[in-house]
Amino acid sequence: MKAYPTLLLLTIAVVNSSNAQIERINQTIKPLEAESHLRFLTADELRGRNTGTTELLIAGRYIAEQFRRSGLAPLGDVEGDYLQRVPLHNVTPPKGATVSMLGKEFRAGDDMVMLTGVNGAAEAPLAFLADLQDYASVDLKGKVVVTVLRDPRGSASDAQQIKLLEEAGAVGLIQIFGPGQRIPWQLILNYLNRERMNVGEIEEEEDQGLLHLWVHDSANVLVQQLKDNPDAAVSIHIKGIQKTSVKAYNVIGRVEGTDPELKKEHIVMCAHYDHVGVQAGEGQDSIYNGTRDNGIGTTGLINAAKYFGKYPPRRSVIIIALTGEEKGLLGSQYYVNNPKVPLEETVFAFNIDNSGYTDTDVVTLLDTNRTNIDQLVYQAAAEVGLGVIGDRIPNQNYYERSDQVSFAAKGVPAVNFKMAMAAFDERISEYYHQPSDEFHTVDLDYIHKYWKAYIRAAELIGNWNQRPYWVEGDKFEPAGKELYNRK
Ligand SMILES: [Zn+2]
Repeated sequence: MKAYPTLLLLTIAVVNSSNAQIERINQTIKPLEAESHLRFLTADELRGRNTGTTELLIAGRYIAEQFRRSGLAPLGDVEGDYLQRVPLHNVTPPKGATVSMLGKEFRAGDDMVMLTGVNGAAEAPLAFLADLQDYASVDLKGKVVVTVLRDPRGSASDAQQIKLLEEAGAVGLIQIFGPGQRIPWQLILNYLNRERMNVGEIEEEEDQGLLHLWVHDSANVLVQQLKDNPDAAVSIHIKGIQKTSVKAYNVIGRVEGTDPELKKEHIVMCAHYDHVGVQAGEGQDSIYNGTRDNGIGTTGLINAAKYFGKYPPRRSVIIIALTGEEKGLLGSQYYVNNPKVPLEETVFAFNIDNSGYTDTDVVTLLDTNRTNIDQLVYQAAAEVGLGVIGDRIPNQNYYERSDQVSFAAKGVPAVNFKMAMAAFDERISEYYHQPSDEFHTVDLDYIHKYWKAYIRAAELIGNWNQRPYWVEGDKFEPAGKELYNRK
């Protein structure tokens, strides 16, 4: 019985102090101002913020100048600026390229698709391996290896095998896409035989190693023919690949923490600010405004910059608006390999990326029970009147489909703070990667609460006596141990 009054007092004290924090956030983040950032970033004039367009560069400059107003220290490449150049380039698929073997000619974009390779021609003997793992028992020097493709979705062990083939002296790998695959060939072509954007300078990629192709064997005859003709050769002509470099930037600022010791630890707050641009559709509106994805996240960062510029937490904060997410998490991939503060001094990454929302009374933490910070997110959400749910669609693997995974793969504990996503249903699909994802279609009351909860949660994490870390047994915990040299 005696415990009650103490507990009650404690609760009142906690509520009072957090009300003061929320009040401070309310005073700093003015609704009209935040909405005007969102209106600007998602306006038709910014034409969907596609990576490689002038409009995305304008968005980046806009964010940089908001960081400057908020007093963030610039962490860009050039002194006094916030822009980190991200070297990117476009690669077109080969055009008119052919592969001839066993009396048949395969054509790029028809029954052949190239995964890696450059323009050029080669004649080479074939080496058929029933299994990629058999590579050690055959002399592969100067040969093109042929195997059956098991799973087009690939796997880490495949990538390793391909490296080993290269070390064994093979000059190429052709994989046979036979009948019975779960993914239709046409889908493979749509997905792989199109222009792609990669990280890196064009020159860096000239020597990218093994030529890697898939050929479509709809008649299911190739394996038998290869077995019958062990001395067969292949003639390869790759042409028509074009590369163009792309101008793109991450926008990065820093707030120094107030604690003399804890300020050596950095919390990253990040969100991608690119979207998918303009795509010709049947309707009249062809601009993909990307309000949910990810204008709201970007504005969340601008708000956080303003708040933490005034009220820094004990730990330091790095705020990063990321480019190239829609092209394959390119901006975050580049950042974690070229960080402005060493990754081992980065203790947490708090990403925002959204598809849409299904409810206005909860937020989604992607994912709960991965890191030890869950209780702080629950607290922050509760303080603005929201609940929290975890990943309700785990089979979609959303955790590994946005920028937080770039940090996680390096070992930095990372989560995505999303608007509520209880299911991928029509409430999401109506706007997800659609021209309808426009400013006037969002519930601003909910968005304001969500923005505040993001700031408040970051503040709690930044001030926490414990250090953020992976939950024991998490997939990324081993990477964390390596990064931070922990047992
Ligand atoms: Zn997104």
